[in-house]
Amino acid sequence: MEKIKVMNPVVELDGDEMARVIWGWIRESLILPYLDIELKYFDYHILNRDATENRVIDQAVEAIKRYHVGAKCAAINPDQARVKEFGLKQAWKSPNAHTRNLIGGTLFRQPVICRNIPRLVPGWVKPIVVARHAFADLFDAADMTLPAGGRVSLRYVPHGPGDPVEIEVCDIAGAGAAAGIYNTKESVRGFAHSCLNFGLEQGVPVYLGTKNTAIEHYDGLFKETFQEVYEAEFRSRFAAKGIDYEHRIVDELAAFAIRSAGGFVWACKNYDGDVISDLVAAGFGSLGLMASILLTPDGRTVLTEAAHGTITRHFRDYQAGRETSTNPVASIFAWTRAIYYRGLFDATPAVQRFALALEQACTDTVEAGHLTKDLATLTGSATGLTTRQFLERIREALERNLAAPA
Ligand code: NAP
Ligand code: MG
Repeated sequence: MEKIKVMNPVVELDGDEMARVIWGWIRESLILPYLDIELKYFDYHILNRDATENRVIDQAVEAIKRYHVGAKCAAINPDQARVKEFGLKQAWKSPNAHTRNLIGGTLFRQPVICRNIPRLVPGWVKPIVVARHAFADLFDAADMTLPAGGRVSLRYVPHGPGDPVEIEVCDIAGAGAAAGIYNTKESVRGFAHSCLNFGLEQGVPVYLGTKNTAIEHYDGLFKETFQEVYEAEFRSRFAAKGIDYEHRIVDELAAFAIRSAGGFVWACKNYDGDVISDLVAAGFGSLGLMASILLTPDGRTVLTEAAHGTITRHFRDYQAGRETSTNPVASIFAWTRAIYYRGLFDATPAVQRFALALEQACTDTVEAGHLTKDLATLTGSATGLTTRQFLERIREALERNLAAPA
């Protein structure tokens, strides 16, 4: 079979431990035999980050900004134990958070649904994609202990003309605590663009949850900004796809989500997103079936990865020469989502079809009952295929999908 030509490069960020081993197997057995693709390779191996004093991250981010599509393998976020294990110069900051922060945008967590893998929430037959606004909010709060009774106020002093404004937060009789949070119109507008672009591309509705009834101005900023962006740029395009955007009160949205069949984007403020993304991930069952996609507000740059880490425990087995039963699906989706967006940006449908065929091969394989141990356990069975046997089943399914008439 002739390889499919990919017009522009994909930036590949290699990683650590078992995730790296799987990442390479996917590249060699499921990607390179089928695609004529240029990979701009950057190595996030912990020792290379140490040797380059993290410059490899800056170089990789530069390349992602230039080529607009990156796929990232899980990488170690070093703590003191890792400094000792690898003899590092220091505990370098998280390659994952650092890379995301330099690119900016919104992180979407997308579960892969397989009919035969039981979910804690059985009704979720379609993905719920959680979009977390990764800026400010409670994570950048100014908070303080109030050792005894007293008054707390919020004071705003404009940089430009205008008088300061001060409002009272509380006047309390005894000890307590207080916090001040903020957000910016620009960041919320970017978040709205990312979420609406993502929903539009996937053809699924977008719901924003806030409590603007209680926090009129702060949560109101989110509600109003999303509505403005939707009306100005998205309403007619959403209508053409038969989908919509809605603001919902966050607790009502939570109740709706549990009862729903899934199939929507849940846009969350930063703190809500922290809680909801882990809640939804747990509801869908397996970390090995969860992909992450970082999308910039203009919808023109993506970085994809698996939501899990480097799977250290399995790597120890691999190092000892034992076969592991590690689930590669989320890592495959990191590759395929990047390839899908590459095809979208280059307007090459054949490349997008390849990405979808490989994703379909993953679900076909699982639904045919070929499972790694994490999935087998969820179905109540004790044994699973080895990682390599499972990858081979996926390759066979991919061959079948590519041979089938479109
Ligand atoms: P982890 O690598 O996600 O693994 C935790 C456990 O989850 C594994 O031991 C395994 O359970 C299970 N698991 C995760 N992914 C799996 C898969 N694909 N197939 C089968 N089982 C899977 O988390 P961690 O052990 O906390 O972190 C390890 C390293 O990864 C750390 O150095 C951390 O800094 C890094 N990390 C990186 C990222 C990233 O790159 N974005 C994210 C998180 C963590 P069993 O042992 O029970 O089989
Ligand atoms: Mg969390």
